[in-house]
Amino acid sequence: MKIRVGHLYPEYLNIYADRGNIAVLAERARARGHELDVVPVGLGDRVPAGGIDLFYIGGGQDREQALVAPDLQAKSAALHDAAGEGAVVLGVCGGYQLLGRLYRDRSGADLPGVGLLPLETLAGDRRMIGDVLLECSWADETLAGFENHAGRTILDSGAEPLGRVIAGFGNDGASGFEGCRRGRVYGTYLHGPLLPRNPWFADLLLEEALMHATGETLELEPLADELEHRAHAVSAERARARGGRF
Ligand code: GLN
Repeated sequence: MKIRVGHLYPEYLNIYADRGNIAVLAERARARGHELDVVPVGLGDRVPAGGIDLFYIGGGQDREQALVAPDLQAKSAALHDAAGEGAVVLGVCGGYQLLGRLYRDRSGADLPGVGLLPLETLAGDRRMIGDVLLECSWADETLAGFENHAGRTILDSGAEPLGRVIAGFGNDGASGFEGCRRGRVYGTYLHGPLLPRNPWFADLLLEEALMHATGETLELEPLADELEHRAHAVSAERARARGGRF
């Protein structure tokens, strides 16, 4: 199968090599005989109608976020249509913030987000930096990664976090939540990039993208993942050694 990925603003939102997440998806798809077709969707580009199975939006600083936010607004309806039809959306850090309703940046300016996730983010004056470990009870798994953000993200009541913080700051350094998920839309502060050390999550996204592409339920064959599990263990250990929150 061909899995079509819409990579939003690859030229602006790619700190900490967030595009490495796409390389992981491509390799894991290839190992199962599928092919990832990555379509860059930049400023002024139309969102390809119908055919995108997974949208990806990476991290960036306030400056880049301000640059893309108005353009993202223009793409909002198309993204909502795609998500409504079961396309997967993954946002990391700056991209995650813009998947919410609003990001108020350090200068106090309000950047409207697309509202695919039920949350708002306010910039604070202390950065939250370091290794993070999350418990994702909904998947019976953990996620390990690295965070670096000043924004504090507040989920609406009843919103589902991506995980509970075992070690690190998470959304706001206080709630004990990290990230958000709604249907097949996921947002997280975890860079690192996220997917190389969390292969279960990469496969979940791939499965959902394939289900969107085929309209059928399916499960991917497991891969050996020895190196990936070691990377996860090292990262998890670093997060645990770092300890709790503020
Ligand atoms: N500007 C945002 C913040 O610092 C996002 C940073 C990022 O993507 N690393 O909160």
